[in-house]
Amino acid sequence: MTTLPSHARTVIVGGGIAGCSTAYHLARLGHTDVLLLEQGRLTCGTTWHAAGLVGQMRPNRTMTLMSRYGIELYATLEAQTGLATGWKQCGSVNVAATPERWMVLQKQAALARSFGVEVHRLGPQEVGERVPVLRTDDLHGGLWFPGDGKANPTDLTMSLAKGARQQGATLLEGIEVTGVIIERGRVAGVRTTLGEVRCETLVNCAGQWARQFGRLAGVNVPLFPAEHFYIVTDRVPGVTPDMPVVRDPDGFIYYKEEVGGLVMGGFEPVAKPWRVDPIPSDFQFQLLGEDWAQFEPLMTAALHRTPCLATAPVKMLLNGPESFTPDGNFILGEAPELRGYYVCAGFNSAGIANSGGAGRLIAEWLVGGEAPGDLADVDIRRFGGFTGNRRALAERTAETLGLHYAMRWPRHELASARPLRTSPLYDRLLARGAEFGSKNGWERANFFKPPGAALPPPTLGRPGWLDWVIEEQRANREAVALYDQSSFGKLLLQGRDALAVLQRLCAGDVDVPVGRLVYTPMLNARGGFESDVTVLRLAADRFQIITGSAQAVRDSDWITRHIGEHEHAVLSDVSALSCVLSLMGPNAAVLLARVSPDDVSPAAWKFSHALEIDLGLARVRAARMSYVGGPGFELHVPVEMARHVYLELTGAGADFGLRDAGYFALDALRIEAGRRAWGAELGPDENPSEAGMAWTLRLDKGVDFIGRDALLAAGGQPRRKKLLSFVLDDPAAYVWGGEPVLVGGSPAGELSSAGWSPKAGACVALGYLRGDAAQVVHQGTPVGIDLWGRVVGARAWDTWPPR
Ligand SMILES: Cc1cc2nc3c(=O)[nH]c(=O)nc-3n(C[C@H](O)[C@H](O)[C@H](O)COP(=O)(O)OP(=O)(O)OC[C@H]3O[C@@H](n4cnc5c(N)ncnc54)[C@H](O)[C@@H]3O)c2cc1C
Repeated sequence: MTTLPSHARTVIVGGGIAGCSTAYHLARLGHTDVLLLEQGRLTCGTTWHAAGLVGQMRPNRTMTLMSRYGIELYATLEAQTGLATGWKQCGSVNVAATPERWMVLQKQAALARSFGVEVHRLGPQEVGERVPVLRTDDLHGGLWFPGDGKANPTDLTMSLAKGARQQGATLLEGIEVTGVIIERGRVAGVRTTLGEVRCETLVNCAGQWARQFGRLAGVNVPLFPAEHFYIVTDRVPGVTPDMPVVRDPDGFIYYKEEVGGLVMGGFEPVAKPWRVDPIPSDFQFQLLGEDWAQFEPLMTAALHRTPCLATAPVKMLLNGPESFTPDGNFILGEAPELRGYYVCAGFNSAGIANSGGAGRLIAEWLVGGEAPGDLADVDIRRFGGFTGNRRALAERTAETLGLHYAMRWPRHELASARPLRTSPLYDRLLARGAEFGSKNGWERANFFKPPGAALPPPTLGRPGWLDWVIEEQRANREAVALYDQSSFGKLLLQGRDALAVLQRLCAGDVDVPVGRLVYTPMLNARGGFESDVTVLRLAADRFQIITGSAQAVRDSDWITRHIGEHEHAVLSDVSALSCVLSLMGPNAAVLLARVSPDDVSPAAWKFSHALEIDLGLARVRAARMSYVGGPGFELHVPVEMARHVYLELTGAGADFGLRDAGYFALDALRIEAGRRAWGAELGPDENPSEAGMAWTLRLDKGVDFIGRDALLAAGGQPRRKKLLSFVLDDPAAYVWGGEPVLVGGSPAGELSSAGWSPKAGACVALGYLRGDAAQVVHQGTPVGIDLWGRVVGARAWDTWPPR
């Protein structure tokens, strides 16, 4: 009979590949007092029926490094543990059946080269030579990744489990965790079907059960299961054991060889959420019923791509549930709701490929107490509590599953579970032609369509909406533009020790007179950006912190975890209490003077200061500041008065050339002005010197703020990378961000964001250059930008426009 220890330093819930990899990596870090509890048998949840495709490429450098690490581990694990993993480096071929897909694949190839992943371009004939069963006459080409492969998910997981045990971890089966013991706001233990275990930390690796298991402790893990399919055929002539994995995203399908036959599955555009609540704990080694109607679009595509399937005997249509998240990325990190509670789940049908790396990252996070790098894309703190709504999750899951292979047009917006979070001006802006995008559930106007105009089709080139956005930009630069930025995160920190807490967290000096605004980084111990915020001192012991629309949860977590036990400081998320209307441009002050009796002239009111003013019948807090460069005001308006203030401004605005403007204009203008954005230019792996933001630091403010030591230590070292502005040579070349930058013909970095600049008459962009290119001054250095496989010319600038 199994005996349960009374204590373990860390309890892992779930014995799928994520749990076993977490146990393996914790033990490898010397954190061996680990107890993994599995309600059934190891692998019995989703892991046992995965197809086992393992690819290296992820959308960004950090995630690609993570998956490459996983592959190295899978390739060497058998030698460590003596248990085979089924890993086979058969390579993979991704094919393009449309010209646009071929352009996207070429961008993927350029990024692969930039990230150090071996890749080769193939013509249709070469695709056919590598995979003879494929129909290639309608293909534009393919990419060959020799380092990709496949593994046997069960064998791999058992090998990780053995490795974990060999290093000292305990893995027990047949024990369900039924509750979490919480003491003094921290995890203190778990309740199980065999009794209690005290512990200091817990990792929720419960796969599709992770949401309902999270609820037991008040932790939001927004994921939802969907039915997910593949077929397995008998032997097929022409299919050999060395056949690469094949992905045909235009058909939404993939293939791998198995025992001389084909496994063919895919990601249908409209998926089928598995609406069962709660998921039973005895759903072990079980599958769902066949659904050929749901599989039909994939089968049709496969019959086209591999005509041999028409006669191949299909042994089974496998339907197993897998969990998907609202943005298609997995969920990692310490939950903001509960200290000591970690999550590693929600793998969106890439859990075999990602768990090797994810297990290592969560282990490093837990042992080190901080995210070990820029994990913002997968960080659990990107989700607010509202994302746990089950109807929204189910609707979104029907959409996100298909995103795996869907054409991701630039500026693509998800359509499901919207609109949800709206400003009081939403309907009014909609009536004025607003085309909304969604950020963190907030509806935000991207741009405004002229009356009667239809939304232009998506494109990889110059977008059809650009002329409208240029008009908004022009209004901003030459007259005045009005942006609804109500989605900003707004936090209030108050208490006797509020100043001391903020001084420790901020690299700038926030000990300023009341009414003063300070734009400042908040750094981690490595000197990287945890956030960049604007702090407004409201009183000696009260500060408003304004942050990005998607940052409120993350920043709240960062701040509260740094308030000492005996410090008197309380943080509240007050985002929903006020709207922000930004009035930007040379006519902003005269327009404001028209609707306010207060003296709003620059003489009375300096930049980076806020004042309470009358505006129409309302009282608003107006801050003289600008994110887009040039004069401007951010008006913080009580929510219930936002409509009134908007009507006052638009009523008076016609005389001053006022125009509604959206986030596309705002973003392009801030790039033109060289302003950085968190999540694009700023993140936990970039420090202020690399980002060209040393001017925000107050190293001599007399407080040892977090990150200061790391900045001082880095001071004498060569920069790892450097942020630059780029201006495209050719006005017809349209860049979107994410494109590799070539210096002397070799990859040296990527664009982080891009937009159209009326000032340059071309696209402008920001981006980091690494290595040697980061060590020199750039004032007009010619570079290449790999744009969909074609190199276009640009110039790199430390400062643009040159002074
Ligand atoms: C048809 C299909 C094809 C796939 N193909 C691929 C592929 O080719 N490549 C790829 O990378 N991925 C693929 N996947 C995805 C992959 O299978 C999953 O992402 C991965 O297995 C998830 O692993 P996990 O450990 O998070 O979850 P699971 O394997 O489900 O493990 C979670 C475990 O937690 C246990 N548990 C839950 N609650 C409790 C509790 N309260 N107490 C104790 N134990 C509990 C469960 O019993 C379960 O065993 C595929 C998935 C499907 C369905």
